Amino acid sequence: MKIIEIETRRRVEFIEITASVKKAVKESKIKEGICVIFSPHTTAGLLINENADPSVRKDIISQLEKLVPRDGRYSHLEGNADAHIKSSLLGNSLNLIIHEGELILGTWQGIYFCEFDGPRKRKVYLKLISD
Ligand code: ZN
Repeated sequence: MKIIEIETRRRVEFIEITASVKKAVKESKIKEGICVIFSPHTTAGLLINENADPSVRKDIISQLEKLVPRDGRYSHLEGNADAHIKSSLLGNSLNLIIHEGELILGTWQGIYFCEFDGPRKRKVYLKLISD
C-alpha cells in the first residue's frame, strides 16, 4: 500500500494527483492489474475529470456550490455540512485499470483530490493489485 500526502491551502480546492498515482504504479512494477484509490475523509472526495482546461474544474466547483450552498440550512452544526454532502456526491474511492504497466486514462482525464473543508492535511491510500 502507498500513501499520498496532500496539504490543501484553501477551503475548496481540486488538487491533481495523477502524477503521484502514475509514479506509484511505475514503482510497483505491476504490468496488469487494478489501482484502488481511497480517501479516508468525510469532507473531501475523489474525481476523474478533464485536466486540460482549468475552467472545467471551476465550473464543477461553482455548480456543486449552487447545488449544496455553504450557508444552506443543515442539521449538522459544525459549519461544514455542505462539505460532507459534496464528499458524498463525489465519492471516496476510484478504481483504475493498469495495463502494460500504465494506468488507463482518457487523453483529457486527470485524477483529482477534491477538498471541500480545507485547508487541512490529507491522505490518499493507494492499493495496487496485480492480476
Ligand atoms: Zn462536520
